[in-house]
Amino acid sequence: MARDKQSRRGLAARLAGGSLVMFSWGCGRGIAELLPVVPRAEFEPAYLRLYRSGELRERIRALKEIYKACRLCPRQCGVNRARWEKGVCNSTSRAKIYSVHPHFGEERPLVGRGGSGAIFFSNCNLLCCFCQNWEINHRGDGAYVSDEQLGRMMVSIQERGCHNVNLVTPTHIVPNIVAALPYGIARGLRVPLVYNCGGYESLEVIKLLDGIVDIYLPDFKYTDPEMAARYSSGARDYPEAAAAAIKEMHRQVGNLVVDENGIALRGLMIRHLVLPENVSGTDKFVKWVAEELGPGTYVNIMAQYRPENKARKFRPLDRRITASEYRRAIRWAQEAGLKRLDGVTVG
Ligand code: SF4
Repeated sequence: MARDKQSRRGLAARLAGGSLVMFSWGCGRGIAELLPVVPRAEFEPAYLRLYRSGELRERIRALKEIYKACRLCPRQCGVNRARWEKGVCNSTSRAKIYSVHPHFGEERPLVGRGGSGAIFFSNCNLLCCFCQNWEINHRGDGAYVSDEQLGRMMVSIQERGCHNVNLVTPTHIVPNIVAALPYGIARGLRVPLVYNCGGYESLEVIKLLDGIVDIYLPDFKYTDPEMAARYSSGARDYPEAAAAAIKEMHRQVGNLVVDENGIALRGLMIRHLVLPENVSGTDKFVKWVAEELGPGTYVNIMAQYRPENKARKFRPLDRRITASEYRRAIRWAQEAGLKRLDGVTVG
């Protein structure tokens, strides 16, 4: 099973120490009260409109075409995946899935009571040395499914009460995800899609997702190209690519909005994992968010880094972060003026 992040809040609380307060959802003043509310009755997932207009068919056609000379991500391998050629992500033009299940370790607005309906896709286009799901993302464990089967899976997790379809590591398999939608829609799919990615995205592809994805959940892992190249399989252009893609995501969906019960409906949520010795460039990241996207952007500064897999061979990634490193990261975010920090409010 994919490892979840159940302990994230507890760990962040311990690392934050006495200078900060970890809020508790549903009691006291927390981020839920800071998020704009849209009545659930007025919400319709974006993809339904594109489906009705016929535009969804065009997007599927355009995305499948990209498989013939793959440029689905900034690596631009140029291989013909429609003929089973493989690039850096080691993927063909069929979706491969490791697991489908309600996930309760994601951010609270995604989880609610019913959970987030996580579909874990096998393989990855970024391939970080500290990956916590190595068997899935590096080794590619999983089983191939057709687009129709994928659409049925989306409906099945909706029927289990999940509040959304959480597409985990979707970048290299976007054409199949979009092609699965008509099969799901025909069977009643109507929860929002969460595009839960590593941030190493093609601007062209993100533009093709306009009006399809309601909730973008990208990582922003590094601000320094050298760090990105060293720890994520040569992805030197990561900071530039992630910044451009996330700005486009924000343009499409804006800041996060929730329903009357605090469940996410639409918007951008950014994750940033604090790495030892500020390898992640947190100070620059939070300033970029405040200046380019605004202080109302939902940001999750994550504390749960642990040295997995090849990371044990790379200093300084061979250790967890310290309490003072995490406190410094939160301080930077607050000094930058960010107002919607997941899990932490000023005490
Ligand atoms: S999605 Fe895979 S094959 Fe396509 S450009 Fe990216 S790494 Fe290469």
